[in-house]
Amino acid sequence: ARLNPQSLPRLSEAVARPAYERGRVTPGIVHLGIGAFHRAHQAAVTDLAMAVSGDLSWGIVGVSLRSPDTRDALAPQHGLYTLALRDAGPDGQPREQLRVIGSLLEVLVAPENPGAVLERIAHPQIRIVSLTVTEKGYSLEPATGQLRWDDPDIRHDLAHPARPRSAIGMLARGLALRRERGLGPLTLLSCDNLHANGDTLRRLVLAYALLQDAGLAAWIDGNCTFPNSMVDRIVPRTREEDRARVSERLGVDDAWPVVGEPYLNWVIEDRFAAGRPAWDAAAGVSFVRRAAPYERLKLRMVNGPHSAFAYLGAMLGLRTNSEAAATPALRGYVDDMLRLEVAPTLRGMPQATLDEYRQRFLARVANPALPHLTQQIAMDGSQKVPQRLLAVIRDRLRRGEGFSRLALAVAAWLHYLRGRDEQGQAYAIQDPLAAALEELLARADAAAASASPGRAAHRRALVVAGYKPVFGKLAGQPAFVDALAEHLERLRTLGVLGTLAALERDAA
Ligand code: NAD
Repeated sequence: ARLNPQSLPRLSEAVARPAYERGRVTPGIVHLGIGAFHRAHQAAVTDLAMAVSGDLSWGIVGVSLRSPDTRDALAPQHGLYTLALRDAGPDGQPREQLRVIGSLLEVLVAPENPGAVLERIAHPQIRIVSLTVTEKGYSLEPATGQLRWDDPDIRHDLAHPARPRSAIGMLARGLALRRERGLGPLTLLSCDNLHANGDTLRRLVLAYALLQDAGLAAWIDGNCTFPNSMVDRIVPRTREEDRARVSERLGVDDAWPVVGEPYLNWVIEDRFAAGRPAWDAAAGVSFVRRAAPYERLKLRMVNGPHSAFAYLGAMLGLRTNSEAAATPALRGYVDDMLRLEVAPTLRGMPQATLDEYRQRFLARVANPALPHLTQQIAMDGSQKVPQRLLAVIRDRLRRGEGFSRLALAVAAWLHYLRGRDEQGQAYAIQDPLAAALEELLARADAAAASASPGRAAHRRALVVAGYKPVFGKLAGQPAFVDALAEHLERLRTLGVLGTLAALERDAA
């Protein structure tokens, strides 16, 4: 039997289920990017908020801008799916809590029918449009945060506004319809790991709208809010064995459960144009006036080190970040990076808070019950490295402070882009700028080959750091180029563990 509203009463006792009358839920939210993360984070919080508050007007219409896979799996289940929260118990064995989530009402596949998505966005019941479309889904240039007018999807949408492919094109068209229909205000809520995600989304939507119709841009400015938010929960991609295990425990088949850690954090600016669910009924969720300090804390103390573990771990041939965190030299390096280089940039945060946050992060990554693949975290580096690592380096440079551990994480990304680990195993580079990066590394190699042996490493780093879409103004910083040159050379000649040992010796 399949998980669906009829089979709910038959589930095993230990499984939590929607504590409200699901048939009475009406849509209030359109969510673009119905991936694993949204289902394990915002949708789960919305489910709880509806149960606690009794306000059932916040059902979610999920939208995939790419693949039909989520819709195909969940349509026969009427949107129901299981959230499995996993960690290791005191005995080191995995333990797991199951909960069926009822807040997702339907899933639309935009490439099949973009018009249906636009109709939902321009529906009077919809008061929030939220997003988790990954960093690259914003069509922005990483170094500047400005819209990339040469992005193929953006160019397509400008030419065919009624059949948008990009998230920005979809939002702009949906908002234009709301304006034409005289509908009320709307909140657009980015839940991606971007610096100032709400402000960024607002800038991109307004820039795009302005090019088409100044009146539309003015309407958006007057009727829509774009709260910034910080989101946190580790949610790896669901594996076949997760599906099998969860279905076995439920007693019915769930074609696509999601798996995450028990920890959850969501800090949202309380600027909603047309109301919001009582999300703060859930533990770990709070509404604030300014999210910037929390967002910076999370990008720098969680996402940055996630990437460092992923790049160095992948090159060592490690499959998961928990294996990377269990490698003493790697864990020691990341701990030092956070304690000595990252935490001091988070001015205004009490030392004790930072220490606790760092220790909890290290414990969370180490969770052996949650295999988060190094290769999944490593993807799209060009979109992630700027706000996770380069922003911190710029901060420290400005104050004349050292950043050699942070620079190693950046060098690790560049070294990773060579596509082969230390065991000689090849892997594919997934990045929207992959072709440009490949060309860049080839140019850097050529420059190094034509330089005198003593200058080769520096020439290589100079060419790499000159890549403006990612490094921006850091290109012209000699201290940054020097640090990159040293780490890249060490990674090439000494390998990951040798490089970490050399860094230790430098610090002694
Ligand atoms: P996912 O790959 O499961 O889902 C991503 C969604 O984005 C899918 O619906 C996909 O169709 C869509 N998408 C992919 N490329 C796109 C593009 N170019 N344009 C528009 N949409 C596109 O990933 P996920 O685990 O759900 O994570 C999504 C995002 O959520 C992350 O990139 C990050 O910003 C945020 N997040 C994730 C985690 C996590 O642990 N997974 C934690 C914090 C924040």
